[in-house]
This record gives sequence, C-alpha cells and structure tokens, in this order.
Amino acid sequence: MKAHVLGFPRIGVNRELKKSLEAYWSGLIDQSALEKTGQELRQRHWQAQQSAGLDFVTVGDFAFYDHLLNHSLRFGVIPARFGTEQAADNLDLSFRLARGRAPTGQDSHACEMTKWFDTNYHYIVPELHAEQQFSLSDPRLFNEVKEAQALGHSVKVVLVGPLSYLWLSKCYGTEFDKLTLLERLLPVYAQLFSELMALGVTWIQVDEPILCLDLPQAWQSAFESAYNRLQRRDLSLLLTTYFGTLEENLTLACHLPVAGLHIDVARGGNEWRQVLDRLPEYKILSLGIVDGRNIWRADLAEQYALLSEAKAKLGERLWVSSSCSLLHVPVDATPEVKLPSDVRQAFAFATQKLTEIAILKQSLISPSDAQVQTAFQQAEAAYHTLNHSQKWRNPAVQQRVQALTAADAQRQTPFAQRADIQQQVLALPLLPTTTIGSFPQTGEIRRVRAALKSGQLSVDAYEQAMQHEINYAIKEQEEIGLDVLVHGEAERNDMVEYFGEQLEGFVFTLNGWVQSYGSRCVKPPVIVGDVSRPFAMTVKWAQYAQSQTRHWMKGMLTGPVTILGWSFARTDISREQIALQLALAIRDEVNDLAAAGIKIIQIDEPAFREGLPLRQRQQANYWQWAGRAFRISASGIGDDIQIHTHMCYSEFNDCIEHIAAMDADVITIETARSAMELLKAFEAFDYPNAIGPGVYDIHSPQVPTVNSMAHLMVTAAKGIPVQRLWVNPDCGLKTRGWPEVKASLVNMVTATKKLRKEWGG
Ligand code: GLN
Ligand code: ZN
Repeated sequence: MKAHVLGFPRIGVNRELKKSLEAYWSGLIDQSALEKTGQELRQRHWQAQQSAGLDFVTVGDFAFYDHLLNHSLRFGVIPARFGTEQAADNLDLSFRLARGRAPTGQDSHACEMTKWFDTNYHYIVPELHAEQQFSLSDPRLFNEVKEAQALGHSVKVVLVGPLSYLWLSKCYGTEFDKLTLLERLLPVYAQLFSELMALGVTWIQVDEPILCLDLPQAWQSAFESAYNRLQRRDLSLLLTTYFGTLEENLTLACHLPVAGLHIDVARGGNEWRQVLDRLPEYKILSLGIVDGRNIWRADLAEQYALLSEAKAKLGERLWVSSSCSLLHVPVDATPEVKLPSDVRQAFAFATQKLTEIAILKQSLISPSDAQVQTAFQQAEAAYHTLNHSQKWRNPAVQQRVQALTAADAQRQTPFAQRADIQQQVLALPLLPTTTIGSFPQTGEIRRVRAALKSGQLSVDAYEQAMQHEINYAIKEQEEIGLDVLVHGEAERNDMVEYFGEQLEGFVFTLNGWVQSYGSRCVKPPVIVGDVSRPFAMTVKWAQYAQSQTRHWMKGMLTGPVTILGWSFARTDISREQIALQLALAIRDEVNDLAAAGIKIIQIDEPAFREGLPLRQRQQANYWQWAGRAFRISASGIGDDIQIHTHMCYSEFNDCIEHIAAMDADVITIETARSAMELLKAFEAFDYPNAIGPGVYDIHSPQVPTVNSMAHLMVTAAKGIPVQRLWVNPDCGLKTRGWPEVKASLVNMVTATKKLRKEWGG
C-alpha cells in the first residue's frame, strides 16, 4: 500500500516563486538566482512529502510559469513566431511564450491562456498546426528527477497524458482533427518513458483528466489505441483521472493497459464502488480521498471506513492519495494564527493534507498502533470544530432564503417595457458609452489604502483621499465625453474581497495564496457560515460620486455567483444555499443604492460561466440556481432602475440562452480580441436585451485606433440591432495607466460619435 499526492503547489508558503519571478523579469536578479529559488522550493516540497510519511515524492509538478507550458517545451511545441531557437533549457523562451516578453530575446505576442478545467488556474494553451512535429527537447524534467534522487527520495514522475494534452491544445492555421497528431506524438512519449526509465524511474503518473468529461466516441477509441501502444512491461504507469466522475468512460478507464488507475473520490460520488468491481486483478487503485479543491480537513472517520472497504477487496493494491493536485489550495495553514481557533483548526492546506493522507494509510496498516490512533483522533476532532457546528450559522438568514418566492427572482415587467421606462428617465443617446468600473489603481491609491489599514491614516483623511480620486475620475470621464460614468473603484483592493470584508460569514487568511497563472496569485476569502449584510457597503461612495456630476453614475457591485466562485466555501452548506444568501445580501445593497438615487447599477459576474460543472448532465441544475441567484439580486427594484452585468469572456456559443435568462438590462462582455466569435452565438440565438461588446482590449497596453473600434462596432451591429448596442472597453481599467486609458477612451468616443452620425442617432 502506498500514499502519495498528485502534485504540490509550487508558489511557496511566502510566494517565494512569485517574488523571484518578478524580480527576475524586472532585472533585479539573474537567472541563476531564480533557478536557485526554484530548486529550494522543489526540495522543500519534496521534503514535506517525505517527512509527512508519503511513499513517493512527485517530480514534474514544478514550473516557473506553467506545467503545461513546460510540457509543450519538452516536446518542442514552439510557435514559429518565436523563432527557430532550441528549447533546450531556455527559460526566457518559456517566458516569451507565456508573456510575450522576457529579459532576453525578441518580443512576440504571447500564447493564449485559459482556465484549467473548472479551476481558477490558467494554463498556456499549446498551439498546434496540421504539420506539427514533436521532439524531445528540454532536459529540465530529467534534471529534476536526478535532483530528487540525489536527495534520496523515491520518485514518481508526473506528466500530462497524450490525449489530455491534445484536447487542451488549440489548432492554428487550417482546421484539422487534432487526433491525427497522435501518431506523431506517441513515439515521443515512448522515448520520454525510456529516458526516465534509464534514470531509474519506475512509476510515472500520467494525467488524463479529460476522462472525467463527456468525450466524443473518437476520443474514447483513441485512448484505447494510444495506451495499447504506450504499454510496456518494465515500466508502471499510473493513469490519473480527476475533477469529476468517469461515468461512460469508467469501463474504458478500468481496462486501459496500465499498472494503476487513480480516481477522484471527493468528486466521484459512489463510483469508486463500481471501479472496485471492474478493476482487473493486476492493477493498483489510487483513491483520491483527500479533497484537493478545498481548504478543509477531511472527515477521517468517514474516509477510513471507505478505505477499509476498498482494502478488504484490494489489499496491497490500494493506494491513498489526494483527489487531484494540491496546486489548487494554499501551501500551509500554520501561519494563520490570527483566525478564530475553531476555523484555524478546521483548515487543511496542502501541507496538512499530506499528513491526512499519511495518517489514513498508517491507520489502515496498523490500526492498533497507539501513536497512529492519537494522530487520527486529533485530526478527527479538529475536523469537527467547524463542520456541522452551529457557531457560524444564522437561522434568520436560512429562513429568508426559504421564504423566497418566484416573484423575488423576476423583474416587474419584461425587458422591452422596462427599457422604455428606463429610457424616459435616462435619456441616453444611441450607442451609449461607458466603462466597466475600475480606473487605474495608482501607487498613491494603494499607499492610501495601506495607510488606512495600518492605522497611519484616519478614516476621515482616507475618505477625503478617496473622494479626491473620485473627483479626478469624474473630471477625466467628463472631458473624454463618456455618457455613463463610474466612480473608479479606488477604495477596492479586490472585487470579491471588498464585499467579503463587509459581509458576515467571511474570514480572511493571512497567507492563503493560490496560484492563478504565472506569478499571479489570489487569496480567496473563506466562507465559514451563513452570509448576511449587516450594513450598506457601497452606497456612501456611489451617492458621493453621483452628487459630483450631472451625468448618470453607475453603482458597482460584485454578483453572488462570482463572490461564491472566487471564495473557498464551507462544504456542509450547499453552493446553491450560499449563492442565495449572497444574492439576498446583494439585493439589499441594490435596493439601498436605488433608494439613494442611483439609476444604473452594475452587478459584475465574471465568474458566472466558470462555475459550470464539467459534465453536461449536471449543467442544467447549475444554470437554474446560478441564474436565479443573479435575478434575486437584481429584482428587488422598480422598472426604472437599469441593471447592468459584466462578464470577462465572449464564448457564449453554448450558453447564450442562460446568459439571456439572467435578464440584465445591459450586459458588457469581452470581445475585443475575438469579435467574430461573439457573432456566432448571436446568429443562432436572438439575444433580447442590450449589450456592450467590448471594443477595446484592456489587457494590451496599446491604444486602439478610432478605426479599429468603429470596425468592431460595425461588426457587432450585424448581429445586434444598434438600438440595443452599448460602447465600452472589454474589462475594468485598474491595471492600466491613465495616459493610455485616456487616449484609448477618447478614440472610443470619437468612433462612437462618427457612427452615431452615420446611423442617425
Ligand atoms: N467592475 C470591475 C472592474 O472594472 C470588473 C472586473 C472584472 O470583470 N474582473 O474592475
Ligand atoms: Zn471583466
């Protein structure tokens, strides 16, 4: 019996990797110093796995930027625009692929980045073309194996499998069937396996998470032929599946000719029992029992019972593991000393999860060992400090959710009717112009916020400073000539944290960082109980801002689905229940804003799509409650109030009707990079309400021209009647500088005025 994890976070407990990367990019340290940080982190994390009592350390989960990008470089998948330079150990080349630039070499546009399944981790999308060749071209993995062996560790290597790699890639140039590349890809995998074996590696973890998706028949068959070809007697492959259930891929997964199978028990429901029945006698089964997607301790008693049942059948062939890589949780809960002790004790970050896995394995092997029993009982008691305890619960909030009616989730009249009422109040021109909410977060703004937090600045002085920022943003917007203004969000550190800090039911960690992409980390708030709003959160700022201008000022809120999606939530309360509690809190805020005279209120939902379950069968239920939560937040007001929402993507092809069902009066979305993709969705479905397809890509420091933006608007007008079109950038501007923002918005307004004339506005 063995204990292991599928991967460990690489960022470091104090975000050492982030700091080193950023120092290297800005020229403060050299490459050897960066390499040294990487080495220290790898060694520390292997040591943690060994000390906890795991049987393997996992090698290959480390990456300076992204593990999928590493895999591309390993196989020589480098887009032509980055030149013909060899990948061999070329760190700057990897940074150019990821970010478009690096301390050395020619800038070029970066590869696309996208979300890793339903997590908030983003990977660099491999760019493949029909003629794609693969060749082993990067020694990094081999060096890391040697590094771990030299330290005396027992090594298990992790790699993304060939089918998942192809699935996650994108075709460039002429369209082609990605599966045709498998022929060329497999020999390189075989070669990689041989070289790892030559180093003495005996176990390779091959990640194939796409086995938890609805797969086309051709891909299912490809699994069979691929793994038949990769099969070899002298090497043990552990095929790992995670993030969901296997369902119709279950038999396939059980019978592929590999030495072992890993399944995600945390998300797999009762499937593990079916797998026990189907698994061939020669295979080991790794049960992913400790949840790698949340920060809470496991209920060891429950897990132990499950594992005992599995052990009765499998004996030594049972392995104990995390459900997925621990990449998606923070590193260590030990520093969280400031939190209430019941919360702190209930935390299990990556480091604590290692111990849980080891305790479970030890208890299965030697159930009567006194030391093991004590460790088990302590961990189990800690689990119970928060879970199923009533301390953070609030029956009044639960009752309010219970009492919600159908009418609460519906505006008073249909869109067409309320649009007329709103236009009578707002009197907006054709193609109204606006922005998404935030304006540049300058060093001064950050300094003032920090000074308030540390107590160096009084609340009064802080409020004055923020009012000054609001006035500045208003003056700029008036000069630019925008129609609907925003206050600029200077007072907000983060669009979720800002609200979480003011709501009941949340706590905040000191150091609970999780990698989002590259050096970027997020520190998700933690929902520990029922959520409610003790007082108004944004009204004072919105009211002040509106009093300073004759233009309409948008109120600016984050929606319930996004607040939930970007937090770590307690698991013994359903996500639907938490979303509805959040919806009521936001609804109260919307109502208060309206009562304070704010006529346009934006409820951002950039994470609306990302919470969608991976399996189609489960999606309808999600759309139902997520849509309801949004509508509850937006429906407590009269028809005269215009509700906007904002989303940071444009792939609506498969969900446009659910976006429409949110019934926001205006939706602003990200389309500047792919205006054509948006139109595809609108050809098939007549979106009924108003929409502002972003005409300016805020992720780029370039100032878009009048013509480029006018062109995008003309394109959009082919799919959406101009009476329902708005003009705006594709996201908030907080990461940009004022000069580029001004120049870009001036061009945007110029383009709008030109089209208004042509279109008779
Ligand atoms: N209102 C937010 C802003 O402008 C929206 C951010 C987002 O969509 N991620 O910053
Ligand atoms: Zn956005």
